[in-house]
Amino acid sequence: MAKQGPRKKLPKEIAIINADNCTGCESCLEVCPVDCINLKEMQHGVKGNQAWCEIDIERCVGCEVCVHIPQKKTNPYELTVCPWNAIEMVPVELAAQVMAQVGGPPEYIAANWDRLVGTAQHLAELKAQA
Ligand code: SF4
Ligand code: SF4
Repeated sequence: MAKQGPRKKLPKEIAIINADNCTGCESCLEVCPVDCINLKEMQHGVKGNQAWCEIDIERCVGCEVCVHIPQKKTNPYELTVCPWNAIEMVPVELAAQVMAQVGGPPEYIAANWDRLVGTAQHLAELKAQA
């Protein structure tokens, strides 16, 4: 995918998926308007594969469409996208902490620390400077 230029404005909150709750059903992936959700898979010995979705937080615009389906303000019912309530909108300043805790299996987080937690930290620094 082509590298995108710096975005104009950082969102207040970004979406993070709790990998433990996610089944990799890809419902959220289909609704994201900027196509920044990806399916991940990891081999887990005799138990088989673990699949979950991951949000590229650098590209997330914080629109919440992956959390609840936009609808008329007069409709009192919230239509959530994730059947497992695995997606949370997180303030940018807390994203690194949340990502380190729930962004994937511990060994996956450790192996991808800079890309996942480092990126979240970088976003928080940008936000603090803005
Ligand atoms: S908040 Fe919006 S941009 Fe971010 S992952 Fe969800 S649908 Fe995509
Ligand atoms: S909708 Fe929920 S369970 Fe399905 S892939 Fe997205 S975060 Fe995972």
